[in-house]
Amino acid sequence: MGNMSNNGETKTDVILIGAGIMSATLGTILKELVPEWNIKVFEKLDQAGEESSNEWNNAGTGHAALCELNYTSEQADGSINISKAININEQFQVSMQFWSYLVNNKLIDNPKDFIMPIPHMSMVRGEDNVKFLKKRYEALKDNPLFKGMEFSDDAQKLKEWIPLMMKDRPADDVIAATKIDTGTDVNFGALTRMLMKNLEKQNVEVNYNHSVENIKRTSDGGWELKVKNVLSGNVEQHKAKFVFIGAGGGSLHILQKTGIPESKHIGGFPVSGLFLVCNKPEIAEKHHAKVYGKAAVGAPPMSVPHLDTRYINNKKSLLFGPFAGFSPKFLKTGSNMDLITSVKPNNVFTMLAAGAKEMALTKYLIQQLMLSKEQRIEELRDFIPDAKVEDWDIVVAGQRVQVIKDTPAGKGTLQFGTEVITSEDGSVAALLGASPGASTAVHVMLQVIQKCFPQEMKAWEPKLKEMIPSYGVKLMDNPKLLEDVHELTAQTLGLSERKPVHN
Ligand SMILES: Cc1cc2nc3c(=O)[nH]c(=O)nc-3n(C[C@H](O)[C@H](O)[C@H](O)COP(=O)(O)OP(=O)(O)OC[C@H]3O[C@@H](n4cnc5c(N)ncnc54)[C@H](O)[C@@H]3O)c2cc1C
Repeated sequence: MGNMSNNGETKTDVILIGAGIMSATLGTILKELVPEWNIKVFEKLDQAGEESSNEWNNAGTGHAALCELNYTSEQADGSINISKAININEQFQVSMQFWSYLVNNKLIDNPKDFIMPIPHMSMVRGEDNVKFLKKRYEALKDNPLFKGMEFSDDAQKLKEWIPLMMKDRPADDVIAATKIDTGTDVNFGALTRMLMKNLEKQNVEVNYNHSVENIKRTSDGGWELKVKNVLSGNVEQHKAKFVFIGAGGGSLHILQKTGIPESKHIGGFPVSGLFLVCNKPEIAEKHHAKVYGKAAVGAPPMSVPHLDTRYINNKKSLLFGPFAGFSPKFLKTGSNMDLITSVKPNNVFTMLAAGAKEMALTKYLIQQLMLSKEQRIEELRDFIPDAKVEDWDIVVAGQRVQVIKDTPAGKGTLQFGTEVITSEDGSVAALLGASPGASTAVHVMLQVIQKCFPQEMKAWEPKLKEMIPSYGVKLMDNPKLLEDVHELTAQTLGLSERKPVHN
């Protein structure tokens, strides 16, 4: 791709809409693959990583399926299906390798500012759940990806692992947990800001306070964007050969404006989130793990409650949640009209079908929304039996827009994963959905690249392998490579030297 068209008008090779973790990751990969390409970023807010990618707006879990029970479902015959857990773990290894490459090549520094080691644990109560957890452990423990996982239903052992959660717990509580020390807490906000800073250093033009208002095709197969400078009110036009719509919750509206057939019959359903944050450092000090529980009946998979040690601005804190809720906004900084304006003639039936089918979810979200602080603390008491209302504050998390689309399972089916939508000619791509989210940004952005630049893949392969040694192979089937990758990433990202200390 060149930068000048015949008539001398400047045209960018790549425009990235939004400065969240997804655009930042895609821009970074592309800049490494083809440094000569010209890239511009337009971000509505005045900084990078202020929406879902911000450290206070998500749970910061490096999702590797080490503790999330919803990635290992129990089959009708009682066996545990671990295929989803394997996929997510493999995807996280891709992120870890890419981040290591960036650190090794000094494109970003101080890994401790964005990634910390923290044990990942699953905790369940009640006999049936304990049985399930034991079976899950048996299914995972010999898999090289889950090496080092431990199981215990012994109160004494659990007291060592999770003293805060075991204190004042009734002796007859049937409880079990698994623990694996290779888990991480990732500050995706800090990482996004580092990546965007690196891009700016590499002459990527990053325009903050610039909101993309419209997008339309140009006669030469590219795209023209109408961009509003939100400070001055000026409207600018910018052209590009390739556009990535990485606007998070804002992506659906922009995708709809492209008019591409792939954008039709898709809707979005916003789910809001809240966390409880502990305001007493002496309590936060007593816990050292991310502990995931089991989702309540009727709850969507992303609202599994968890008690998390977090490292935000190098300070240890303790968060519990997320509590789901309903808000018609698609972005935390969005508008109450977002949901209504996303309904179009081509997706109205899809949306209505989903509405009829998802009554249980709607009811659940509304109930969640109505919870008082005392009721939220009551849920926290499943984790910390003696939790006190005054020790916790409420923080509002980011919005997640779940994709609604027609699938073989029926019209208007709610999706919980991420979806990459691309035009047939690969000139525009959008990312919708939010799970497993930021942790798998590198894998997802590689999908965008493969779909949109198929001709270049052969030439790019050596560089991709340099950045991601396991590129194109399954680590599970290559235990030696997996071991090397684990060692390399732990060392480069400083995870081994910052091994967890128990209280
Ligand atoms: C409560 C909650 C908990 C989560 N927990 C985790 C977790 O533990 N681990 C994990 O890996 N993931 C988690 N996620 C998911 C993760 O946060 C997201 O998948 C990820 O941050 C999405 O990144 P993004 O770049 O697509 O979007 P964002 O970070 O939202 O970025 C989009 C950007 O686009 C900008 N924008 C929007 N519209 C426009 C426009 N018209 N013009 C210009 N700019 C625009 C926005 O201002 C924003 O900066 C969680 C999400 C939530 C909400």
